[in-house]
Amino acid sequence: MIIDMQNICKEYTQGKMKIPVLKDICFQMEEGEYTAIMGPSGSGKTTLMNIIGCLDRATSGTFLLDGHDVKNCSENQMSDIRLEKIGFVFQTFQLLPGMSALENVALPLTYAGIPKKERLRRAAELLDRVGLSDRASFKPSQLSGGQKQRVAIARAMINHPKILLADEPTGALDSVSGEQIMKLFEELNGSGVSILMITHDANIASCASRIVEIKDGILSKTGGQSEKEVITK
Ligand code: ADP
Ligand code: MG
Repeated sequence: MIIDMQNICKEYTQGKMKIPVLKDICFQMEEGEYTAIMGPSGSGKTTLMNIIGCLDRATSGTFLLDGHDVKNCSENQMSDIRLEKIGFVFQTFQLLPGMSALENVALPLTYAGIPKKERLRRAAELLDRVGLSDRASFKPSQLSGGQKQRVAIARAMINHPKILLADEPTGALDSVSGEQIMKLFEELNGSGVSILMITHDANIASCASRIVEIKDGILSKTGGQSEKEVITK
């Protein structure tokens, strides 16, 4: 099991008020799964993703990531887990503007202490995999939205993460670029990477093999297995 959440609650404190944002969430994901989480704005999607991504902690409940209980991990240990196991993809790409596409993709390897030559070799390989070999020297400002997101996906994949977490990955893209990103996700999932994707676009969500819904911080399955999963199993 890559994700095992039991009774996860998260509340924010605003002055003296406690605001419950995630309410008793139970959520499991097997390794190799491709799951979409759908829900309206403000329903707690990003809060949930941040906990799964070890960027934030739950207020209560248990969360095992790839079998590890992260509750008592230090900040440094959380950051090691992120580096080793998780690839992040964001709506707004989060590329560094002063760096080329190749350097952006290679960046996580700097934190992993990999020598420069090896970093650039692996980054070039990943850029090729997302179909952007010919844009390696381009800065983010010289790339289209869809290309930026493909660079961001290459960066997310460079440490061979077990799971890709994508928060509205097509939210800032036109529909054609969005479809290209979904094709790339399908390929990655086909090669064994688990994917958890947040979206509020039903078309995009239908690319996943399972859809769960979140509303007001409460997670519920939408009709169990999706049609696609029934067909493929
Ligand atoms: P979504 O991603 O589904 O739009 P979020 O997880 O970003 O929703 O937010 C869920 C709720 O939690 C919102 O009501 C938001 O205002 C609140 N919230 C998010 N982050 C914080 C924070 N750091 N402090 C207080 N409230 C927050
Ligand atoms: Mg959000």
